[in-house]
Amino acid sequence: MRFYSTNHEAPAATLSQAIERGIAPDGGLYLPQEIIPLPIPFFRNIAEMPATDIAYVVANTFLAEDFEPETVRAIVNSALSFPMPMLQLDGTHIATMELFHGPTKSVKDIGAQFMASLLRTIRGNNATPVNIIAATSGDAGSAVASAFHSLPGVHVTILYPKGRLTYQQRQSFVSLGPDVTPVEVRGSFDDCLALARNATLDPDLAGHVRTITANSINIARFLPQTFHFFNAFARMVEAGADPDQIVVAVPSGNLGNLAAALLARRMGLPLKRIVAATNANDAFTRYLTTGILEKRPEVATHANAMDTSAPANLPRVAELIPPDPVALTAYSISDEEILQAISDVYNKYGYVTDPHAACAYTALCRSLQPGEHGIFMATADASKCRDVINRAIPSLARQEAPPARPQHRNVQPHTIPATYQSLKTIILQTNEQQTHP
Ligand SMILES: *Cc1c(COP(=O)(O)O)cnc(C)c1O
Repeated sequence: MRFYSTNHEAPAATLSQAIERGIAPDGGLYLPQEIIPLPIPFFRNIAEMPATDIAYVVANTFLAEDFEPETVRAIVNSALSFPMPMLQLDGTHIATMELFHGPTKSVKDIGAQFMASLLRTIRGNNATPVNIIAATSGDAGSAVASAFHSLPGVHVTILYPKGRLTYQQRQSFVSLGPDVTPVEVRGSFDDCLALARNATLDPDLAGHVRTITANSINIARFLPQTFHFFNAFARMVEAGADPDQIVVAVPSGNLGNLAAALLARRMGLPLKRIVAATNANDAFTRYLTTGILEKRPEVATHANAMDTSAPANLPRVAELIPPDPVALTAYSISDEEILQAISDVYNKYGYVTDPHAACAYTALCRSLQPGEHGIFMATADASKCRDVINRAIPSLARQEAPPARPQHRNVQPHTIPATYQSLKTIILQTNEQQTHP
């Protein structure tokens, strides 16, 4: 399978080229050149298939040309190494799909583990050092650091906006030992993403150390996100839902998950409607009505892993938008509505949902019609956002659990202004220390 650039000005790339570049030379993002609809019998049997079998069929459409079936199977199994249960909250009218049972309790574990496994397979015995870089507003940093830090020859650089992560979010990657370099940026998440992007596009830096982005703009992080939607559909049909009436709501920030839902639909998954839920950063909701991405300053919200005013995967979404406009809607959810939703879900169903999923729940409730079956995707474990949960459900308020004793001494983060030169200096210094200790 080859991958084209959404800017249509760079030549198509092989899978390994697309992974190593992250961003196409013309600045676009990669998407599969052919979108192959899955056969009808697959959808007929899907409700009887376990998640890893479903993911294997989907993954093969992208990977079969490059890898042996057992290699694809191994990559899929290492990415989906934990359960992804669906909970029916209100008959089959409203359900939630828990995608957060991985090592860092985030949906991003699946994509990060998939990409790490794919990269390890592609590299084989090649031990040339590589620098994996990721910008994070909350959860990507831990998931990427956890998936990559122990791979041979791999160093990880995590960029995050100063003062915006919770203690636990930050702790989860500063405590992994010397193979992870934390870089705190005096700027926004969007600044961090721009710096990471510059690093992957800088030919001079590439002459010293190959730098690969592990944000969801990377095709290897992006593709496995399609699995969630096939799996959610299967579990809903298995629970007795009408397959023609299934609606999914997606907590959305950089729109990787949303673009993957749209890709799954193009591959034949009969989702009746896809509902995008953003937090107060409403750039995408406005884009969907006006067709224009209007930059406004990024604001900090209770759903911090979705804080961005310039969604990185918008070029993919734009390519995949369904011709039928009612098949995709979007809602922006305020912090007050997040607290209200967490409290409502708890009072109605006795279930504690996290602030990101709460956005999706609220958007779903606004969109769902009688007779439809709605699924809101749950992207993080509520225990990661205890402060917000305590505010929403005071009766449940608990003390922060004492942090687990780190295995390594914390690595002291570098603090830099939002300039590429400052980042480059750190990457070069770190690489020098790694190669000539
Ligand atoms: C990353 C993330 C999202 C948003 O996913 P995108 O693909 O960036 O839109 C939502 N919730 C949580 C908890 C996340 O970590």
